[in-house]
Amino acid sequence: MTKHIFVTGGVVSSLGKGLTSASLGMLLESRGLRVRMQKLDPYINVDPGTMSPYQHGEVYVLDDGSETDLDLGHYERFTSGALTRDCNYTTGQIYLSVIEKERKGRFLGKTVQVIPHITNEIKSVIARMGGDDVDVVITEIGGTVGDIESLPFLEAIRQYAQDVGRENVLYMHLTLVPYLKAADELKTKPTQHSVGQLREIGIQPDVLVCRCEHPISREERDKIALFCNVPTEAVIEEKDKDFSIYEVPISLVDNKLDELVVKKLGLPSRALDITPWTDLLHRLRNPRHEVSIAVVGKYAEHKDAYKSIYESIDHAGMHHQAQVRIGRIQSSDIEREGAERLLSGFDGILIPGGFGERGVEGKVQAIRFARERGIPFFGICLGMQCAVIEYARNVCGLEKAHSSEFDKDTPDPVICLLDEQQNVTQMGGTMRLGSQPTLLADESKAQQCYGLDDVHERHRHRYEFNNTYRDQFREHGMQFSGTSPDGSLVEIVELPDHPWFLAVQYHPEFKSKPLKAHPLFAGFVEAAIERGSRKHEREQPAVSQR
Ligand code: GLN
Repeated sequence: MTKHIFVTGGVVSSLGKGLTSASLGMLLESRGLRVRMQKLDPYINVDPGTMSPYQHGEVYVLDDGSETDLDLGHYERFTSGALTRDCNYTTGQIYLSVIEKERKGRFLGKTVQVIPHITNEIKSVIARMGGDDVDVVITEIGGTVGDIESLPFLEAIRQYAQDVGRENVLYMHLTLVPYLKAADELKTKPTQHSVGQLREIGIQPDVLVCRCEHPISREERDKIALFCNVPTEAVIEEKDKDFSIYEVPISLVDNKLDELVVKKLGLPSRALDITPWTDLLHRLRNPRHEVSIAVVGKYAEHKDAYKSIYESIDHAGMHHQAQVRIGRIQSSDIEREGAERLLSGFDGILIPGGFGERGVEGKVQAIRFARERGIPFFGICLGMQCAVIEYARNVCGLEKAHSSEFDKDTPDPVICLLDEQQNVTQMGGTMRLGSQPTLLADESKAQQCYGLDDVHERHRHRYEFNNTYRDQFREHGMQFSGTSPDGSLVEIVELPDHPWFLAVQYHPEFKSKPLKAHPLFAGFVEAAIERGSRKHEREQPAVSQR
């Protein structure tokens, strides 16, 4: 029988429920259990695909092409269970499916209500995650307890224990235990209140994970336990980590969360082995190199907008035991201040994906700078399209070249919609989404990095390289080192005469993991480390020989 863990959050948002849920998933996997992760989001958008990265951070894409919440990125990076469309539902999707059923007359004329129709729909998407091949499903409920939007989800998870037996369900609640400077005290009242709200709707949490800046004393834990009706050992401290997010799972082990969960749910499990994670932290704490990477994007000031990109750079850093400094550069600033001024100190330049014209010229300038100065460059999706535009303009002599996404009248649309897509445009849904194969050219940098001849990577874009320009680009030295298996779509471009200049039409950042850095990120960061150390050598005063 599959066991279910429901993770809720209280007091404030942004407590890191996603990271804590993912860490718990990882710990249970390290105990030999088969885990699946799911996120239920209370907002009404049907999926986050159309939400602004300003508000919602990056849109995370799965193999099956679903556009999901970025917490699914944490899940994939920390655990190994496959994630699919079923792993992320929003209020919008739930209502949509209930309303569609109503339209088809599936409710036989009954009045359709939040309870039981919406809650039944929620329970069915939770139940769908279980099965013979899964020991534990961890379902995270987005939002904060007390929000109007969360109520149907909380009611559904309350009923769930009723349906499958209380012993098969564990409720874990994340709260904040703030420190008040004036009183020099930790305050437990917000936690009491938020647990109170949960209990009002019939959920007694089994475990409280308390986010805090300062350690929680035994007396304070006893107090929380007493007021919230849980044993003291179920009050878990999760102190802020200023060093790295990879400390989170280790600190949860120190606070015995995994032990408590397996005991409570009666899960058969082997002893915990988290050596790979402690090794990882060791490498992170003892860097042998330093490297600086500029990420030039439209949403540079928003730290979640390129979440997976930053994570992937960090993974590559850990792989090479290098301390990475990431500079977030606003592409429109380059248009104003110039690439030289903003980018000269960096050992590598990365341009991530994006939509919309703002900042595109700044990206093109950044690429020219990287290409001409021999600085390692990695372009991703829009970053690749900008690399093509830059090469067309400054090397192939097509001065007005552009993407037809940004200039409908350009004489040289080197990036465009393909004919077959133009027809689909009228019907909507033109995005190329999800995992697709790429064949790698012999003796290319791409093939060398992957160590493979073909790969599967995730896509999320509409526009493509315009094949009518292929020969012209080739004659001027650009290599098309990755294409779709039939050769019709350009997936990777590189410059063989440059130390490391490679750009991909897909999103490799969705497949990088802390314990398994993505080969292209690893290759890029390695090239940047080399450049950095050469620069360092040049800067060292010559040792006088006597
Ligand atoms: N806007 C570009 C396109 O739709 C690139 C998309 C992206 O970078 N994800 O093709």
